Amino acid sequence: MSTELIDPTTEAFESDAATVETSARAAVAAVPDPEYPDVSIVDLGLLESLSVVTDVDGTVARIGLIPTFSGCPALDMIASDVRASVELIDAVDRCEVTWLAGPVWDSTRLTNGAQTRLANDYTVVLRRKDGSLLCPVCGSDAVVDQAMAGPTRCRSVAWCPSCRNPVEVMR
Ligand SMILES: [Zn+2]
Repeated sequence: MSTELIDPTTEAFESDAATVETSARAAVAAVPDPEYPDVSIVDLGLLESLSVVTDVDGTVARIGLIPTFSGCPALDMIASDVRASVELIDAVDRCEVTWLAGPVWDSTRLTNGAQTRLANDYTVVLRRKDGSLLCPVCGSDAVVDQAMAGPTRCRSVAWCPSCRNPVEVMR
């Protein structure tokens, strides 16, 4: 045979898998970060991989997440929220969540929308690549680090001498 026959069953299966993947992605995006309840973990850049596999045991959604900081105590909560959200999809029988060792999360994984929301709603600022900090309240770049520890290991506290506001720095 010179031409390859396309198996229509396979095509249908692949398009189904793509649909389930889209639904699973939306279900993960519906999960907020426990610390920032109006920011999705997808916008925070935690979602690294997502695949949907169907075998004899049913359809399994495999979600690979990367932690913003390995010491964050909220990882279990995020994983179970993701599982619960994805398993609401009819076509998904099971959802497996794995915390990946790499790549290492950095602030460039945040969407612009998430950065704006963190700055406006939580006065959280991100350290820029050159190490400087931009004040989320007044936009000054004169923010100085404080020696004191932040509220969690994921964050530290800085201070803006320009508008005299404390700001949180996401590491
Ligand atoms: Zn300021």
